[in-house]
Amino acid sequence: MEKYDYAIIGMGIGGLTTGALLAEAGKKVIIFEQHYLPGGYGHTFKREGFSFCPGWHYVWNCGKGEAVYNMLKKLGLEKEVTFEKLDPKGFDRVVSKGIDYKIGSGFERECSRLSVMFPNHGKQIKKYFSIIEKFNQHKNNVEKLLCFAYIYKYLKWTLQNLFDHFQFPPKLQLILSGQSPVFLLPPNKLSLVVHAWGIASYDSGAYYPTEHFEKAVNGLFNKIKDSKKCSTHLSTEIVKLNLNDDNTRVISAETKNGEMFSADNFIFNGDPKLSMDLIGKEYFPEKFQKKLDYDYSSGVLSVFLGLKDIDLSKYMGKENIFYYSDPDINSLYEQHFAQGIPKELQLFCNAPSLRSDALCPPGCHQLVAIAPCNYQYFADLRSKSRAEYIKVKEKYADKLIDTIEEKFVPGLKSHIVLRIVGTPTTSEHFVFAPQGSSYGTSLDPANVNINRLRHKSPFKNMYYIGAASFLPGFAPIISFASNLYEKLTGDKVQ
Ligand SMILES: Cc1cc2nc3c(=O)[nH]c(=O)nc-3n(C[C@H](O)[C@H](O)[C@H](O)COP(=O)(O)OP(=O)(O)OC[C@H]3O[C@@H](n4cnc5c(N)ncnc54)[C@H](O)[C@@H]3O)c2cc1C
Repeated sequence: MEKYDYAIIGMGIGGLTTGALLAEAGKKVIIFEQHYLPGGYGHTFKREGFSFCPGWHYVWNCGKGEAVYNMLKKLGLEKEVTFEKLDPKGFDRVVSKGIDYKIGSGFERECSRLSVMFPNHGKQIKKYFSIIEKFNQHKNNVEKLLCFAYIYKYLKWTLQNLFDHFQFPPKLQLILSGQSPVFLLPPNKLSLVVHAWGIASYDSGAYYPTEHFEKAVNGLFNKIKDSKKCSTHLSTEIVKLNLNDDNTRVISAETKNGEMFSADNFIFNGDPKLSMDLIGKEYFPEKFQKKLDYDYSSGVLSVFLGLKDIDLSKYMGKENIFYYSDPDINSLYEQHFAQGIPKELQLFCNAPSLRSDALCPPGCHQLVAIAPCNYQYFADLRSKSRAEYIKVKEKYADKLIDTIEEKFVPGLKSHIVLRIVGTPTTSEHFVFAPQGSSYGTSLDPANVNINRLRHKSPFKNMYYIGAASFLPGFAPIISFASNLYEKLTGDKVQ
């Protein structure tokens, strides 16, 4: 059996980044992905000339000297895979009853705008931004984030705790938690640390790829594929990881077709709990099993629309829209997390074709929308009746589309030429996301704490990389994968 230096299970951004860096360093890498496309949640699927990316809408830390750029530079890809900055004056638009507010980059600017809007709370607003700013110091090395003494004080806090502490009025609370779909939790559930870490990136701005996320994924994938020593395997599910005689090391990976591959080291990019299924729970010490006893984040209903004969720029810009039919985000989430279609609605939408023209047939546009939803509801429907499942998900999608038409894009429905709707069960099927979880673990204080998993497994030569092992998102996982590469090789990425 041919032996590799590293076997990587999963071609999400974590697996691809680590694999590409190791391949570039001359290591012999083999990488497996059960999907027929690379990228995990960041894969690009194509229908009728439209290219859709289900898992990345906008990203962070892509500027010179920041984590994404540093990694691309290390691979010599920084000129090929480029990003455009979204409008610093406003790339997130929060809309609800009596509110239409655009959030941009630069804490100072945001702080003074909000202080003008809420003059009685100027002092507290300043304090809020000073807390967020502290988290910004570790944006290029996220692993250090949870070791940072300053955050201990806030580890058990939710965002709502901070709002209550500062006695922020409801309208200000809505603006500051307006990007809640970025975490898929309302303020009364969201870890303050995660909110602060996420919003910290807003200081230097948000990005979108010049062409498409597919270019970033393919750039990394090809680094591994084109390296003579390495081997890439799409449509290849790993069903078993075998241990050595004293159960301290992983020695081989077995595919669904019964093929066996051996390596000195193993890197697991799938959900870490799944690694327990592949190895056997009995080989995981109880203490470690506790680390893996996390709750999953919510899944989403995703709507991908292809549009024709419409000048979408008349109604939308490059920004993301966060819409809440009711300004009480906490109660809106309760409705979305319950079974069924919510009465009141929150949604996140944007038009990727207004950011890049490489995504659609000429003269067309694409619009994507998501809303948090209950996994079990759709899983039960699907197992009982496929027809009923489709009926309900399409009805839910109708509600999102009707809302976008009513509030943002008049006449939208008459321009739809392609409509694809996914639920949490779709993510479970295509990218092995358990319960369709969008961000790995739930991002509440119970699941984000100093016991967070990180790279180490109970086996000397197996490592975790991915959303559930540390933090979700394109840039954080790239940063975390760069850390792993540095630990494994002693080489520096930045
Ligand atoms: C709707 C939605 C919107 C999002 N929006 C953004 C955004 O705007 N910006 C942002 O930065 N992040 C966003 N995210 C989060 C981001 O997409 C994820 O955190 C990130 O892509 C996860 O990467 P990962 O490396 O953890 O791997 P994943 O993407 O989870 O991929 C893991 C891969 O491993 C494979 N795998 C697992 N087990 C096996 C096995 N046994 N054999 C073979 N292969 C296996 C899976 O098939 C999968 O492809 C969003 C997520 C969702 C769902």
